[in-house]
Amino acid sequence: MLKNKVAVITGGTRGIGLETVKLFRENRAEVILFGSRKESVDKAIANLKDKGLEVYGYYPDLSNYEDVQKTVNDIAEKHGKIDILVNNAGISANKKIEDTTPEDFAAIMDLNVNAMFHMIKAVVPIMKKQKSGVILNTSSMVSIYGQPSGAGYPTSKFAVNGLTKSLSRELASSGIRVNAVAPGVINTDMVASLPKEMIEPLIKTIPLGRIGEPRDIANAFLFLASDMASYVTGEILSVDGAARS
Ligand code: NAD
Repeated sequence: MLKNKVAVITGGTRGIGLETVKLFRENRAEVILFGSRKESVDKAIANLKDKGLEVYGYYPDLSNYEDVQKTVNDIAEKHGKIDILVNNAGISANKKIEDTTPEDFAAIMDLNVNAMFHMIKAVVPIMKKQKSGVILNTSSMVSIYGQPSGAGYPTSKFAVNGLTKSLSRELASSGIRVNAVAPGVINTDMVASLPKEMIEPLIKTIPLGRIGEPRDIANAFLFLASDMASYVTGEILSVDGAARS
């Protein structure tokens, strides 16, 4: 489905991002994954190689626009183009408002929103020159409902939806589609790190009766990245088993 496409995926070393890297590669894209550290990037690349999946990796500081721009330009030069950007790197939070420090709040916004802006700003001139491109953002079910603790996280994901919807309108005439996927509760390290008291009641409220798997989200990204979604832009696609909490 992605033959001859070049895809950059942030937060690609584990969880949803890693599964998306695998699925895109299985569908013949040339894939460049980003991670936060050299060791985790090297490890992900080596593990994928063992499975017969050859990918490339970088570890720019996503909070630093110059570093992001340099890396993105380097990729475009080496691979000839960038067709697909998946902005997936993200962190969550679960502290009550009284326990959340300004630094905690800023850290969430820095990665979940500012880094996404940096990536998009760096990639858009390349996609505009190509007159085509797909930008996909990882939002969350909490971008629709909020959550009862850890307000910084839903705040950042509401911003992701705002970026997605606004840029879909701004960039449509340049042949660039912009969409987001809003996962529900997905079986990754991020969820494993949350307290059981928070997760178990959540699962009970999911009509499909199970937690989602990273492949459920990767499948949605594959559809949106592919030409099958050529008339889809500005969409926040919920993939959450109809969870409503
Ligand atoms: P994860 O913790 O397994 O993976 C997070 C990824 O982000 C890793 O690849 C990591 O390298 C990268 N990352 C973390 N901090 C970084 C930093 N400072 N700089 C660069 N990269 C950094 O998480 P996941 O569950 O796979 O989450 C991926 C995305 O999905 C996030 O945006 C998250 O908000 C979103 N999401 C997850 C769930 C869920 O239930 N797991 C639900 C909704 C949305």
